[in-house]
Amino acid sequence: MLDWLPGATRRDAPASKHGYGGVPEPQAKQGIVFHSMEGSLAAALGELDKLSRQASWTFSNPKSGPMLQHYPLGFHTWASGSDIANVRFTSIEHEGVAGEPLTPSQVANDIALLKWMGLDWKRPANPSDLTATLYEHRECVRFGSASTACPSGRILWPTILAAMEDDMPTQQEWDDFKAAYKLDIKRVREDIVGLSSELTALRDAVRVDIRAVRESVAAHAATPHGGGGVSEERVKEIVRELVAD
Ligand SMILES: [Zn+2]
Repeated sequence: MLDWLPGATRRDAPASKHGYGGVPEPQAKQGIVFHSMEGSLAAALGELDKLSRQASWTFSNPKSGPMLQHYPLGFHTWASGSDIANVRFTSIEHEGVAGEPLTPSQVANDIALLKWMGLDWKRPANPSDLTATLYEHRECVRFGSASTACPSGRILWPTILAAMEDDMPTQQEWDDFKAAYKLDIKRVREDIVGLSSELTALRDAVRVDIRAVRESVAAHAATPHGGGGVSEERVKEIVRELVAD
């Protein structure tokens, strides 16, 4: 079972603030419920650490920097207002308040989380759709949660869903790619070394040929009828032949 999101900062929260009596934990999650902190990360973490406050969540997505993870993915955190929603889905809080759309960093962190979980990501088709995998807190009324404005329209669904459709590589796929790329570079280097020695051999062969040609030319030029010029003897001979006519 997936536990800790690669690249996220593990930041443990109180061990007592998760789970329900009689409900197995950890348990595979069927989706994510999105929330807005309606405040700063520091303020939210203060609430998270308060033992008297019956609220917890699994992920905190700051305006900048890596995702924070407070519990293993399969834990049932108390974020979405009902036991059904909390058991079925994991939860993510986003730093900021109503009127502040997610930052590019927050969108990227969300996308990385979705890629890692690797579910069939679907927004609810209608107010009674229980089969979706991406809900906003306010959409959890269908699971018995109290009504709320959270996350106040801050989640950039078109961007997030478009990224999922693009089938961007997961971290694992990036790692695999990089590993393969390194292997390719090594092979290319070996090829270049091989090619280099072949070129050296070719150059040496050409030099031998050039030397042979030069020697041949020199030898030819040294003969009386060589291409290096007409010898004096041959000129006299030609003159004699012409005169004889
Ligand atoms: Zn919420």
